[in-house]
Amino acid sequence: MKLILLGPPGAGKGTQAKRLEDKYGFVQLSTGDMLRAAVAAGTEVGKKAEAIMARGELVPNDVVVGIIAERIEQPDVAKGYILDGFPRNVAQAEALDEMLKGKGTELDAVVELKVDDSILLARIEGRAAETAGGARADDNAEALAKRLTVYHEQTAPLIAYYKGKGKLKTVDGMKDMDEVTRQIEAALGL
Ligand code: ADP
Repeated sequence: MKLILLGPPGAGKGTQAKRLEDKYGFVQLSTGDMLRAAVAAGTEVGKKAEAIMARGELVPNDVVVGIIAERIEQPDVAKGYILDGFPRNVAQAEALDEMLKGKGTELDAVVELKVDDSILLARIEGRAAETAGGARADDNAEALAKRLTVYHEQTAPLIAYYKGKGKLKTVDGMKDMDEVTRQIEAALGL
């Protein structure tokens, strides 16, 4: 199963991806987590990405496309994977399509977690409070506002992109976490 979870920051992509990973063995591939690990390790990629991420902007396409291209070659993703936070714009989606085509395969589905902007700020403030001290550099009001703008301008067009390819499944991300999981499983026929 090769899957994308699509939705705004705070939609619950990470939580749902982890659950699917635990239950079905599909590996969660979060470009945000990978980039944060690169920042923490002080790699070249990390140095390039740190300030951009703190502002809530997108890291250059070639950086994230390169990270994903390398990652999906690893043997541990053989059972399938869940892309969380990638692709984030049409150019990345096209690069992914090309990558998969080159391997003679394609995506199984794209699951959109639909959530109103109005509750995202509260969710992310909650997450920042829970992780006080170790809070993410971009979980503050200013960076979040930027992340939401970037989502609407660059990432939301992927909804139409994947709808046009017949891949899109939409679930209600405003429901509680268990219900969202059930809706995702139903949408995927799991
Ligand atoms: P969010 O909770 O906002 O969805 P992520 O953990 O997915 O956060 O991403 C955090 C930051 O990492 C983004 O704001 C961006 O700077 C960078 N990033 C993650 N994935 C990508 C990507 N596919 N393309 C460009 N930048 C990315």
